[in-house]
Amino acid sequence: MREGKKKGLDLPKARIDDSMLIGQAYLLKRLAQLVQSTNDELQHMNEQLSYMAITDELTDMFNRREIERRINFALDNEKMYKNGVGLIMLDIDHFKKVNDILGHDVGDTVLKTVASILKETIASEKDAAVGRWGGEEFFMLLPDKTLKETIEIAEKTRKNIEVYKHKNIKRLTASFGVIHNSSEHDDKNNLYTKVDEALYQAKSRGRNCVIAVDD
Ligand code: GH3
Ligand code: MG
Ligand code: MG
Repeated sequence: MREGKKKGLDLPKARIDDSMLIGQAYLLKRLAQLVQSTNDELQHMNEQLSYMAITDELTDMFNRREIERRINFALDNEKMYKNGVGLIMLDIDHFKKVNDILGHDVGDTVLKTVASILKETIASEKDAAVGRWGGEEFFMLLPDKTLKETIEIAEKTRKNIEVYKHKNIKRLTASFGVIHNSSEHDDKNNLYTKVDEALYQAKSRGRNCVIAVDD
């Protein structure tokens, strides 16, 4: 570099005119729109995934994992509920016959119908939840309900199932086990065993009935 000459590179002078600025602004706007719509799509997919993770596909009610999580939460926090927590386990009677005689598709329709009856029956009960435990078994969670109230809800559900007029089935019933946990209680596993035993008793006593055990 010779003395007297200005330091630095001799860069060609760039000319930015309005049309270039407008073009770039347009590009930026399009990019922002793309980011926004990808974001919206991701959020929608996330919501769908969260819904699928807690829902039983056939009956569109809570799946076992979710109802169990809710039950365990209610039992762990039972002090929040002045009247304790009521649990109902129910199982459709002679459901195998529905499948054997009318086919699996009719069986599926019956499961969906029973699920709707269950959801409708507890719709007005605050904080109540119902889910599919597996096969033709369901669990109802009734926080802040006394044993008496829980039995009444089980009885109401039993009747709602019994009186429902199905297309191809003359009579469909279910059996119920009920348990209530007040502040003195044993561990959660014991409650599940006891409510299962109550349901078993309901089956042995001729089905279509409610058997309760107090914890
Ligand atoms: P019980 O009164 O003693 O409960 O008799 P059950 O026939 O209801 O009980 P069992 O355990 O003998 O039969 C349950 C049947 O439920 C067998 C199984 O094929 C059927 N099942 C389980 N899950 C589904 C399902 O998703 N769809 C259909 N259609 N059937 C199912
Ligand atoms: Mg069963
Ligand atoms: Mg059954």
